[in-house]
Amino acid sequence: MAQTIAFRQADQLKQKPDPGQLGFGRYFTDYMFVMDYAPEAGWHDPRIVPYGPIALEPSAIIFHYGQEVFEGLKAYRTEDGRILLFRPEKNMKRMNQSCKRMNIPEIGESFVLEAIKKLVDREKDWIPALPGQSLYIRPFVIGTDPLLGVHPSGNYKLFVILSPVGSYFGDSIKPVKIYVEDDYVRAVRGGIGFAKTAGNYAASLRAQSRAEELGFDQVLWLDGVDRKYVEEVGSMNIFFKVHGEVWTPALNGSILPGVTRDSAIRLLKHWGVIIKERKISVKKLFKKAEKGELEEVFGTGTAAVISPVGFLKWEDRVIKVGNGKIGPLAQKLYDTLTGIQTGRLKDEFGWTQEVEQEKEPVTE
Ligand SMILES: *Cc1c(COP(=O)(O)O)cnc(C)c1O
Repeated sequence: MAQTIAFRQADQLKQKPDPGQLGFGRYFTDYMFVMDYAPEAGWHDPRIVPYGPIALEPSAIIFHYGQEVFEGLKAYRTEDGRILLFRPEKNMKRMNQSCKRMNIPEIGESFVLEAIKKLVDREKDWIPALPGQSLYIRPFVIGTDPLLGVHPSGNYKLFVILSPVGSYFGDSIKPVKIYVEDDYVRAVRGGIGFAKTAGNYAASLRAQSRAEELGFDQVLWLDGVDRKYVEEVGSMNIFFKVHGEVWTPALNGSILPGVTRDSAIRLLKHWGVIIKERKISVKKLFKKAEKGELEEVFGTGTAAVISPVGFLKWEDRVIKVGNGKIGPLAQKLYDTLTGIQTGRLKDEFGWTQEVEQEKEPVTE
């Protein structure tokens, strides 16, 4: 797909937000990338245009039947002024796996990645540079046919929007409190749990707000059939350090295959840590904890990178993990991953890709 990307200039550029107050996903840059799909034309009309509201028919498929996929990755600014993406080819590949499951026509992975790099380069002044900050990249595809009959859309739109984001934790990493959800379920094998799609989040919202009402930060999902086996946390995969070994749930079709999960597994193996991808029963886990063998628990995901868990509640049982601080293994993973992502550490695995920066004439 050797298409050229059109460009439409914004009338006015926005004022950038206060870098100390970014939060997550609250501000959007001046431009976005858009491309359309039509049955005869395929993916066409790629363009970078001013970020802003879009017009869709109220009958569009996306609003009624949720035919959608999305991705999440980040661009990092290095100390010497380069811009790095972390394993972005994996996001593109996963986007197509999600597309297949949601009956959405596949995208050209290398073309969309090139488009993302062009957009990031154009918006490079928006990449915040304080520790822990980055430019969050959100590609997504929606079905747009204006028809209420239940069937896959014929026409689609792909967007990429960008948001400068702060450190997920502020100044210090605080362990989160987790509620093990034994009533609602997020996904089942054969369903859409492995796809990054809106419906999985729609299914999670009620449980998440109930957990918050009860004083917890996140929900830990159990499998949808037996409600015995651990799956994942909110928007993160989950790891347990048990008696010197690390366990994480095996990918079974209802768990999202996280890029951070894969990277953590690769690093742990590289360090000679015993890492087991397996079925993990919540009962066994609580037993291990009661014997004092549950040493660390942490989530992995692009937004938080590594998020330590300090407290787990399941039915009427409660376990406290560690001493209220991040554990040594989680800390090492956090430092190594963020080090590679921001170019502070040598990228031994070839995980980063540099965004080529065009020298534009200074217009101010
Ligand atoms: C995106 C996501 C993750 C984390 O994946 P990363 O590629 O590591 O960001 C985990 N679980 C769910 C449900 C997700 O949507």
